[in-house]
Amino acid sequence: MVLLRKIKIPLLAVVAVLLSLCSPRFYPLEADHTFRDDVTYLASATLEGRKSGTRGDSLAALYIRDRFARMGTVLLYENGFQPFSLVSSAVPGDGNVFVLDDNPLQVSRDFLPYSFSSRERKSGEVVFAGYGFDIRSDSLTWNDYDSLDVRGKWVLLLKGDPEIDKAESRFAPYSEERAKVLTALDHGAGGVVFVGGPQYSETDQLQDIFYDRNSSSYPVPVFQVTREVGDKLLAPRGTTVAGMEEKINTRERCGGFPLPGRITARADVVLREVVTNNVVVMVPGNDPLLKDEYIVVGAHYDHLGWGGQGSGTRAPDTVAIHPGADDNASGVALVIGLANRAAHTPLNRRSLIFAAFGAEEMGLIGSKAFTANPPVDLKKIKAMFNFDMVGRLDTLSHALSISGTLTSEESEAILTSHNPGFNLAFSGEGYGPSDHAAFYMENIPVFFFSTGAHSDYHTFSDTGDKINYEGIEKIADYAWQVISEIAGRDQPLTFREAGSKIQRSRGGRFKVTLGVMPDYAGLEKNGLRVDAVSKDKPAHRAGIAKGDIITAIDGKPVGNIYDYMNRLKTFSEGQTISVDILRNGEHKVLIVKL
Ligand SMILES: [Zn+2]
Repeated sequence: MVLLRKIKIPLLAVVAVLLSLCSPRFYPLEADHTFRDDVTYLASATLEGRKSGTRGDSLAALYIRDRFARMGTVLLYENGFQPFSLVSSAVPGDGNVFVLDDNPLQVSRDFLPYSFSSRERKSGEVVFAGYGFDIRSDSLTWNDYDSLDVRGKWVLLLKGDPEIDKAESRFAPYSEERAKVLTALDHGAGGVVFVGGPQYSETDQLQDIFYDRNSSSYPVPVFQVTREVGDKLLAPRGTTVAGMEEKINTRERCGGFPLPGRITARADVVLREVVTNNVVVMVPGNDPLLKDEYIVVGAHYDHLGWGGQGSGTRAPDTVAIHPGADDNASGVALVIGLANRAAHTPLNRRSLIFAAFGAEEMGLIGSKAFTANPPVDLKKIKAMFNFDMVGRLDTLSHALSISGTLTSEESEAILTSHNPGFNLAFSGEGYGPSDHAAFYMENIPVFFFSTGAHSDYHTFSDTGDKINYEGIEKIADYAWQVISEIAGRDQPLTFREAGSKIQRSRGGRFKVTLGVMPDYAGLEKNGLRVDAVSKDKPAHRAGIAKGDIITAIDGKPVGNIYDYMNRLKTFSEGQTISVDILRNGEHKVLIVKL
């Protein structure tokens, strides 16, 4: 390998020869299943995107458990299932009250609370404050709160923005409800009521309550009402919701006015818990002493379901099955293949635990449930391998990223010695945007294999036809060599710390930070230029580098420092977001764990 690289044969030719000749063929042995079969089933419409707690999620877990079981592996926990619960959605409770003057309104028909509303009863005057913007950017100045006193009062705000029908609305970064609530709070508002005009939504349907993977609520009540209710509030001032929307949109006029009405309201939102499972099995080792040490080999099987608001999709406006073929049917197929190999060639001295984690997309909940209630003594787990998005091996570059390589003293040497010709990109940190993070936090050396993010990441177009199945096979074969060596060594890997384990919480108004020094002067017009990257902060771990231009966060455009900050305001610690960047003119999507 090293020798071949020293003589000047073009690298790609070497890689192609090595991958085709030197890799022993690697097929799953159980029945006639292939990686393609596993990905095809897991990413099928029947499973509807495998959202935690849904039927498709359960079907996926059953399928994986049965695949493991037929190999003759030992089923851990309850027949191979480790159940755990999590919040997956929000529904209105029985205690919702909304009284306009003396008229009680009907929940679901006239009004709905937001999942991030406070639960406190609030009574007070109402001020109409347009779209509720307070924007001061280079290209746009718009303050709806100018000369309004909203302190302690309800603000009535229009949903959306004046350029709602434009793909590139200048207002887009500020028009999400959470951003507007934050702005209202900045101005001292005591409660927020949203209403949508006909240009925002013709039908005037109340938007279903959604849970945005974030249990944090604001210190004020937040509701949405129908246009009929909004019109009642505006009527004494001789106008309507449609009228105000039209006026503001056509004349670009900001601002608002006090209203004579009075609102008394209390929100009641029930965060609904669902149960899902990790699927966990073992292939025992054959060394009398070392079999009591374990290596965990895992991949998450859940995904985003039908997408939509709050799901983590990068296209929240399109409700469609998100097949998650690469994310992460590919990793599960690979782990099933490895389990099959282990079960049929029981040469491992240490025991191997194979795990398909649930609820990774909801915030690494499954892997944390595993380490919180492990099937074996955590101290006996000597390494963890995580495969997340391994289905897009590029046939030209053969680039394979492995993270956590500095979490043991021996990792990089072992990985390098078995490399059959991948263009390996090592990153040392043990913390990262997937399930291995939970193990690193327990001082376990981790290996995170991935072929990287792409434009289909977290969209409905992450489909099976784009998967490189031979690539999965090559990665599986390589990983098998590495796992076999680590399972058979006399001594376990020597753990060492590589990067911070817990995000330091910072004071101030921002709950999260990427850890970059942006170009405050706004010299770059296509986005936000990164002038420096702090070591071991989320941006650094995700591979963002000095000189990169951030053009979008979680699929939404970032044009300047204000956009960037407003975007970050809407996220919280522990969330995983995508960051679009331009690097030397090339568009890339990186995944950042906050
Ligand atoms: Zn994902």
